[in-house]
Amino acid sequence: MATIFTRIVEGEIPSYKIAESEDFYAFLDINPLAKGHTLVIPKREVDYILDVEDNLYKEFFLFAKKVGRAIESVIPCKRIGLIVFGLDVPHAHIHLIPINKASDMSFESPKLALEKEEFEEIALAIRNAFEKL
Ligand code: 5GP
Repeated sequence: MATIFTRIVEGEIPSYKIAESEDFYAFLDINPLAKGHTLVIPKREVDYILDVEDNLYKEFFLFAKKVGRAIESVIPCKRIGLIVFGLDVPHAHIHLIPINKASDMSFESPKLALEKEEFEEIALAIRNAFEKL
């Protein structure tokens, strides 16, 4: 059965899209730790990130780097933190999280409850920034 992220890529489940290439897709995390918290995934399903083949792995991180640059140009923060868990959704994904301190990346912290309009506004701003890079 397809993962929830494959269903997002295929448009079967809606997402706040940030960017897309032939091989990768980036979209806002629905339970964000911070405004602009984004997930980057390979379109082709691979569960464990260390199983991504070398060429794609490199491209994956380069794509995530560009998405991170777009996020930091829009969301005020000290850094974009990158983290990989993959314990919930069996489809490799990199979390990109705007942070000011290490604890901003704690998944124990409460998530932000954003309105649809806020998600749309954030996604549009980051998408526009990405397209200018
Ligand atoms: P992980 O697998 O890295 O532990 O966590 C999965 C992440 O995917 C979580 O941060 C969760 O909020 C996010 N997530 C799970 N389902 C969806 C979904 O349907 N849409 C979006 N945009 N994010 C999701």
